[in-house]
Amino acid sequence: MSQTLTIALTKGRILDETLPLLAAADIRPLEDMEKSRKLVFETTQPNVRFLLLRGADVPTYVQFGAADMGISGKDTLMENGADGLYEPLDLNIARCKLMTAGVKGQTTPPGRIRVATKYVNIAKQYYAAQGRQIDVIKLYGAMELAPIMNLADEIVDIVDTGNTLRANGLEPREFIADISSRLIVNKASMKMKHVQIQAIIDCVAGAIQSAE
Ligand code: AMP
Repeated sequence: MSQTLTIALTKGRILDETLPLLAAADIRPLEDMEKSRKLVFETTQPNVRFLLLRGADVPTYVQFGAADMGISGKDTLMENGADGLYEPLDLNIARCKLMTAGVKGQTTPPGRIRVATKYVNIAKQYYAAQGRQIDVIKLYGAMELAPIMNLADEIVDIVDTGNTLRANGLEPREFIADISSRLIVNKASMKMKHVQIQAIIDCVAGAIQSAE
């Protein structure tokens, strides 16, 4: 008898790219997850269910074992820490870069600077590793506005094409990390439900390889 397995997912573009990978493991939601207001979804496998969460909450559910597995951006994992988690697979989707950025053509002043970001921990660690002192200003969105409005000297944000930075008069400065979505697994679940979870990891890994 296989045990119930809970997989935490996130709404939006990443879900569209994730569901085909899980379908490779023969796990499909029984209804359209984007259209429903539900948060828990039955799947074609009676013992597997999906949760639909905010991206930043996926590692929390998996860390505490409220979900056995999940799909999370590397940026979220870096920001929140990954205690209690395994990260067995890079899904190679939602690829982008975490970068610093500032006003185009302006040099950042020497000494202590203000950095606006939603990635407070990543920013603190990155600038500290460079031996640079910063004051972090926590924002929840529209980071690009902060340097233009003199709220901050630099921002730390996700960059894909760079169009959003350019459209707001900013330029990318320093590379911090490559980001993509990762499959994460609760450490205790990995032991207790090893056969079930490993079978899913193998199917998803196969789907990623054939997509390359
Ligand atoms: P771009 O204009 O292509 O550089 O995209 C920049 C904005 O799109 C960022 O500020 C993010 O909010 C969002 N974005 C792009 N790619 C991703 C991703 N893989 N994950 C999360 N957000 C992303």
